[in-house]
Amino acid sequence: MPLPVLERIREDLPNFQSSGLSIMESSHRWQLYEDVHHAAAAGIRELLAIPQTHEVLFLAGGATLQFGMTALNFLPADGSAAFADTGAWAQKAIKDAGLVGTATVVYDGKAAGYTRMPRREELERAIRQQPDHAYLHLTSNETINGAQLADFPDVPIPVVVDMSSDIMSRPLPWDRIDLAYAGAQKNLGPAGVTVVIIRRSLAEAPVRPLPAYLRYDTHADKQSLYNTPPVFPIYALALVLDWIREEGGLAAISARNASKADLVYTAIDTSDGFYVCPVEPGSRSVMNAVFTLAKDSLTPAFLAGAEERGFLGLGGHRSVGGCRASLYNAVSYESVQALVAWMEEFRHAN
Ligand SMILES: *Cc1c(COP(=O)(O)O)cnc(C)c1O
Repeated sequence: MPLPVLERIREDLPNFQSSGLSIMESSHRWQLYEDVHHAAAAGIRELLAIPQTHEVLFLAGGATLQFGMTALNFLPADGSAAFADTGAWAQKAIKDAGLVGTATVVYDGKAAGYTRMPRREELERAIRQQPDHAYLHLTSNETINGAQLADFPDVPIPVVVDMSSDIMSRPLPWDRIDLAYAGAQKNLGPAGVTVVIIRRSLAEAPVRPLPAYLRYDTHADKQSLYNTPPVFPIYALALVLDWIREEGGLAAISARNASKADLVYTAIDTSDGFYVCPVEPGSRSVMNAVFTLAKDSLTPAFLAGAEERGFLGLGGHRSVGGCRASLYNAVSYESVQALVAWMEEFRHAN
């Protein structure tokens, strides 16, 4: 979360817009909240240049619910959906879809240790060869492995993308994306709300009868006010969008993200092998820079020194170890410069 947003929340919290009520205790039918709610959806649409063909929804359940919900809506029991197995998050989506119908892996990154993402042409070829899938599911940024999709394929079936860890970090080609979902907590706001951007025509066509909450058109028809939405996280998300606008919008944020990532990867690549990034250059994530120390026995000292200097959570995901610098939108360029200075200091000392 950007610090100015946290400070604004502190100011607003007991008495929202002099109403005598906190947004935290407000009904979702309260006019002041409804204004915030619609501004949040409009802000996402504006910043990401989402066309009128797509709806912006606010749901609960995290990206994790979307693994199953996308399959329940679009994957018939006797049908197949195509998946790019790009790492730990893709695998969770594959597992859930496999309970609903058949999950077919059309790109398998496992053998190569998930060190790269599929190229656009690879995915297009795979779908051309085997076009009978209900949809293609991609993970635009594999948060744990530090690999990011460089480009989105143009295929004749719906494309569903888990964008939890890189939404609002770069512009997106909506003509090639039919459904994007993202838990807010990495790049958009606090945990508790999931953003779903869905092509209207897709929302209207669930392949089986489903309870109301699990249908996308339920939420699209009611502008995400069918039931009580996560009011407080949506309010905070709206403030994050204001902050992005003040920072110069998506173009400025995207350029800054690229410079931040470049600082870290350059430090790794010019370290004479002291730091190693296992991910291929064309797939390296701008959001999560994953690296190891060639001498792994030094990793605990590197991380302990980092923590002393205020770099929290620099350890790699518990499933892979090593180090991971998460460079989400709210991380400043100066913070990344400071991290790189620590990397250099530690390398020279060791
Ligand atoms: C964090 C993350 C998830 C899980 O999100 P929840 O909101 O905790 O369900 C899913 N996919 C990716 C790519 C993630 O980074």
